[in-house]
Formats: sequence, structure tokens, C-alpha cells
Amino acid sequence: MFYKSTRNSGLKVSSAQAIAQGISEDGGLFVPEEIPAITMEEIKSVGDMSYAEGAAFIFSKLLTDFTEAELKYCTESAYTDKKFATADITEISHLFDGTYVLELWHGPTCAFKDMALQILPYLLTTSLKKLDVHKKVVILVATSGDTGKAALEGFADVEGTAIMVFYPQDGVSDMQKRQMTTQDGGNVTVCALKGNFDDCQNGVKAIFTDDDIKNKLENGGMMFSSANSINWGRLAPQIIYYISAYSRLMKDGEIKEGEKINIVVPTGNFGNILAAYYAKRMGLPVNMLICASNANNVLTDFINTGVYDRNRDFITTISPSMDILISSNLERLLYILSGENDGLIKEWFGELAKSGRYEVTEDVKKQLSENFKAGCCDDERTKATIKAVYDKYS
Ligand SMILES: *Cc1c(COP(=O)(O)O)cnc(C)c1O
Repeated sequence: MFYKSTRNSGLKVSSAQAIAQGISEDGGLFVPEEIPAITMEEIKSVGDMSYAEGAAFIFSKLLTDFTEAELKYCTESAYTDKKFATADITEISHLFDGTYVLELWHGPTCAFKDMALQILPYLLTTSLKKLDVHKKVVILVATSGDTGKAALEGFADVEGTAIMVFYPQDGVSDMQKRQMTTQDGGNVTVCALKGNFDDCQNGVKAIFTDDDIKNKLENGGMMFSSANSINWGRLAPQIIYYISAYSRLMKDGEIKEGEKINIVVPTGNFGNILAAYYAKRMGLPVNMLICASNANNVLTDFINTGVYDRNRDFITTISPSMDILISSNLERLLYILSGENDGLIKEWFGELAKSGRYEVTEDVKKQLSENFKAGCCDDERTKATIKAVYDKYS
């Protein structure tokens, strides 16, 4: 199976190439040319495997150019109890009637980003080997908080790589700042930026697509790649835990075989919820995907109206990982929902860059409303909800 660009459906690259490159030369994002299917029997079987085994099995459908041995090496290196505080890698806690919390925070940095960033360095270095590329990979990361530390931790002292993290100087929590600026490793650089996360992300994107810089790197035997969720190697690992959580709920008798579940995802760059959408398209019984936002509610409005409008104040909140006005991975979803219309995607994202606004077609609006619901809340309600859940359910 090949991968193509959301801005050029004619492009074809292997998954190794997509992961090594991070983003397509045309500025588009890599997407699988078709979404592989997973059967109920296969979903069930994942429940009997270790997390690493289940991951290797699901990856074999998505990264078809990787050998079984390569996938085994990547998943077993990442998903071990040497790195995660629980042998099952994730935990599911039962909150109340029919409501569960999938705990993705048992990795080394306490951020759910560890789920993908612990394995990305292995996927990336394996990809380079497969492609017979002997360059040093320079990872550029824009972070609104959690990604930076999780990426630094994943790549620290990984041979053949170097990593540079850019964060908004006033946009991350004190703990996140300290986690990043105290990172060990001979190949790590951390840089604070005057601006917000979107400025960081736009800056990184601009560096990526700058030919002069690219040539300079090439002459020095280096190449860029990305550890942000624009990289397919970040997204694919996130599909795994939705499937594994479903099969565990089924195995534990919490849900019936084939029962449809709703998934609520706190959303920023639209990576995590997009992975849930991919899981649904692969065949996981999912009813609604519920996109939860903080006071930066550009996605709430978009899902409810079909108009994406970033012309609004950027609000710094207590959930900085969700302080985002331009959600990169929405491009992948819209590419799928528009029937892989690369022309429309170029048009919409051109308008977004120019005027900060675009409106999708009636057909895309309909599909959005059939698959997604959206809501948002401010800091006060966030705190009140955390307190209420803690008081009631510990
Ligand atoms: C990264 C992150 C998010 C946002 O996830 P996206 O995949 O960017 O939508 C939300 N909450 C926390 C705690 C995060 O670390």
C-alpha cells in the first residue's frame, strides 16, 4: 500500500518514505491510498495479545512495506514495562455507567504523546535503513507543551538523529518548561519562541519547505523530518490504542461484540481524534467521535457549522496542549471526506493561509455531522469538572 499527499493525489510513496520525510514537498500531508479493513475476529484477537503484539499486527495493515521482524523490533522496543509504568501499556478505568477512561499517561513523560513518540524513533530509523538513507535526521518539533518533552525523551541519544524543539515562551506550563529545558542527551536542542503555538508550527513548516535550508542540510549529510502529528509515524501508533481498548472492553464483558461506542477526545491539532476516525473507517464499531475543545473553540464552531474561521483571539488556557487555532490534521480528514479532492484541499488551505477562513461543501458538512459532535468549555468548567470527578470517583 502506498501513501499519497493531500495536495497531490498522484504522488505515491511507501510508508517508510512518508515517515522519513514527515511532510510532502507540496506542503500536503501523507495519507494511506486506501484505509485497510480490520474484521471483528481480528479485533477480538488483539485482546489476547500483548500491547506490543497487537500493535505489530495492526501496523502490518498500515505499514505494508515493513517486514514482520521490523515491526516486532519497533513495537517491542517501545511498548515495554521498562518504559511504561504498567505492563499493559494503557489502562482502562470504569468511571460510571457505560463511561470509561482510557488512561494513556503511563509513559515516561506522563503525556499521552508517549504512546506515539516512544515508537516513532524506531519507526523512523527503521524507515531510513529500509530506504538505504545514511543521513542524519534532524527532527524539528513545534510544541504547545507535551509534545516537546515526549519527543525529546523519545529521540534523546538515538543514533543518527538530532532533535530541535520550539515552544511558545509563555504558552507552556512551568512543569513542561522544566521538563524540556532539563532534558539530557547529546543530540537535543530546546528553543523558546516569542509567539504562540501556531507561530511555532508555521515557523517549522516554513523551515521544512525552504529550499535553501534544505540544500544546506543536504550538503552537510543531513535531512529534516518531523515528530509532530503531521508525520504519519505519529498518527499510525494512535490508531492502535482505540482498537486495543475496544477489544479489552469486549473481553472483559463491558461491551457486547460489535456494540458501537462513542469516543470523546480532547483535541488540539486533531491528531488523536483523527486516529479514532481511522480506526472507525478500518471497521471498529464507533458511533460518534466527540471533539472536546477548551476556550479556543475553532473546531467546535467548524464541526457545528462547516465554517473554519481562525480570525478570533488566541486564548492562553490551563490546557495549553489544546491552545491551537490551526489544526493541521483536519486537512487529512477533509481530504478523505471530500472524496480525495486534492484541488479542493489546496483551495481551502490556500484560503486559510490568506484570509484565515474557509467553508466546506454541503456534502462534507453532512459527513461531518454524521461522524462528529463537538463541544467546548472554559478553564472554570474544566477545573470544576476535574474536581467533581475526583471527589466522586477518586
Ligand atoms: C497533545 C494533547 C492534546 C491534543 O491532541 P491532538 O492530537 O493534538 O488533537 C490534548 N491534550 C493533551 C494533554 C495533549 O498532550
